[in-house]
Amino acid sequence: MNLLLLEAADLIASDRARLQGRRLRHLHEVHRAGVGDSLRVGLLEGRMGLAQIVHLDETCAELVLQPLDQPPPAKLPITLLLALPRPKMLKRVLQTVASMGVPRLVLMGSYRVEKSFWQTPFLSPEAIREQLILGLEQARDTVLPEVRIERYFKPFVEDRLPALAQGTQGLIAHPGDYPPCPRALNTPLTLAIGPEGGWIPYEVEQLQRAGLAPVQLGERILRVETAVTALLARLF
Ligand code: SAH
Repeated sequence: MNLLLLEAADLIASDRARLQGRRLRHLHEVHRAGVGDSLRVGLLEGRMGLAQIVHLDETCAELVLQPLDQPPPAKLPITLLLALPRPKMLKRVLQTVASMGVPRLVLMGSYRVEKSFWQTPFLSPEAIREQLILGLEQARDTVLPEVRIERYFKPFVEDRLPALAQGTQGLIAHPGDYPPCPRALNTPLTLAIGPEGGWIPYEVEQLQRAGLAPVQLGERILRVETAVTALLARLF
């Protein structure tokens, strides 16, 4: 945790916060913090700055905030469409997405997404938020990505994707005989990354019809979480 993210409910005065639970344990176990220490903090959806620990014991920590005057870093100009990964991978991908500065994520259905993945408790709004917050704390950002769930491929891609992708360059990450993925673009993008088994031909056709073009990253097939990182690092 490189940034302690505070929520409105943590504030006991305009310049004072009280922490318990995970963040308190982290202060003890990882930071090995003590009274008088300064920490980098941020207000969820707001600005960042420093805070000093004025009280610390096993049950709570109290921090006095200096003026929070630093804006969070800019997000990437991208909407990421991701075929729903298996639950363990989903948790990690959500952290990666938040850390790398993706502002909009669509978790979508695809033929090769196992039906049971939709039943996971990790897909609840609270569970998604928890992973996103871990990613924001890692990267020092305060702004939660927007996450949309589109379980059914066809209505999403036919009815909503064209409008969502309008005015952006649309790409489908798909291994095969396609042009190489472009590098260091500065334009708004819509990028679709497939499930472990990959997109099926029908899906590639439908995504193309919505304005996205297939691109490849080379002959090595990457895991979804690695593909997310490799693609974002290469595109921006
Ligand atoms: N067996 C599948 C690969 C799935 S990898 C297939 O052959 O299509 C999971 C997802 O990661 C893919 O759908 C794609 O979006 C992305 N990906 C992984 N490696 C890639 C590569 N070398 N080029 C382009 N996309 C890749």
